[in-house]
Amino acid sequence: MKRISIDPKDDPPTRDLPLATSTPAQLPPAKATKLHPSKSGEENATLFFVGTATTIIEWAGIRIMTDPNFLHAGEHVHLGPGVSSERLTNPAVDLHDLPRIDLVLLSHYHEDHFDKMVEASLRRDLPIITTTHGQERLAFKKQDPFTSVCALKPFEQIEVNIEGTEGPRQPRLRVTGMPGKHVPPKRVVEKLNALAKAFPPTNGWMLELGHGSSNAADFSCGYRIYISGDTLMVDELREISKRYADQRIDLMLVHLGGTTIPSPLVGRLMEPLALTVTMDAGQGLQLIQLIQPDVTIPIHYDDYDVFASPLEDFRRNVEAAGLLNKVVFLDHIGFLSVQLSPGRVGLGLRRAPSHISTPPFLAWGMGLHTRIMIYFALSGSFGEFGGSL
Ligand SMILES: [Zn+2]
Ligand SMILES: [Zn+2]
Repeated sequence: MKRISIDPKDDPPTRDLPLATSTPAQLPPAKATKLHPSKSGEENATLFFVGTATTIIEWAGIRIMTDPNFLHAGEHVHLGPGVSSERLTNPAVDLHDLPRIDLVLLSHYHEDHFDKMVEASLRRDLPIITTTHGQERLAFKKQDPFTSVCALKPFEQIEVNIEGTEGPRQPRLRVTGMPGKHVPPKRVVEKLNALAKAFPPTNGWMLELGHGSSNAADFSCGYRIYISGDTLMVDELREISKRYADQRIDLMLVHLGGTTIPSPLVGRLMEPLALTVTMDAGQGLQLIQLIQPDVTIPIHYDDYDVFASPLEDFRRNVEAAGLLNKVVFLDHIGFLSVQLSPGRVGLGLRRAPSHISTPPFLAWGMGLHTRIMIYFALSGSFGEFGGSL
């Protein structure tokens, strides 16, 4: 098994902060928190949803950022030969307002997951875990390469030690590459994609937060998060449910959007050529039924004009399947705090600041589009390894 160490120190995540700008100590405060209707618990970790597939997980004094994309509404990404897409939303926090980040999980090297501004600005030695293709693009380029990039193949694992911790119960991460397919599993499409190099290989992740000693084999998982990455509902995903059949998946972040190339806005003329390359509402529901996570949070929807499957469609599918109580929907009223703990998963609504007119409880289950912060806890270790960020 691969191993890396991350060293939480107060360097900013970017290398081009404007002069006289200091790195914030914290993320922006959550404006609302949700409580799971039936469960709640003590929390020592959070997940903050920035937009697209960008989230920031805080636990044990470290921050992990997924798929950094910080473009604003009206800006464009290039998604393959001749394909660009306009962002329709703003990120919940700007790239240069981020607090310290210790590790980046990059599911694949696509501009709506790692935009040009991010690539130019991020500190070169920021640890990044990604695909082999992503590693080639970031670490093996001649000019200005990133210097701490690791690649994982599907089901390959990496242990992430946190420097400055010691003893028999050190907080530790384990990241496992999960399979994913961005293009439909049809020979002709896959061949064309291989030729055109349009859609990069993509990973999902199993991110496990847990504890262990200095012995690498000694790891106990306290909280398990499956992040789908940009994938279609393909047979390879069944292997995930087989391998984790007797291990609880506490949270699933599913990349939705039903990304359609060319954009549905191009018009009916192009419809016969349109290709869907991420899960739509129906596939997202199938993934919940396959993986059976305790809680699912949809991400990667409504942010770009190529995202053809709106969140509302997913909400309707989930409701029709009787699974609304297993899904947390987000909205635009502000950052939402969600509390989670294994065995006692809690999604809770914290009081909203008075300037927000929408009563926070109305945000629950309404299918509005929000940026969220999630609080969750590892069983039996509440506060013990919380650390101060
Ligand atoms: Zn993609
Ligand atoms: Zn994407």
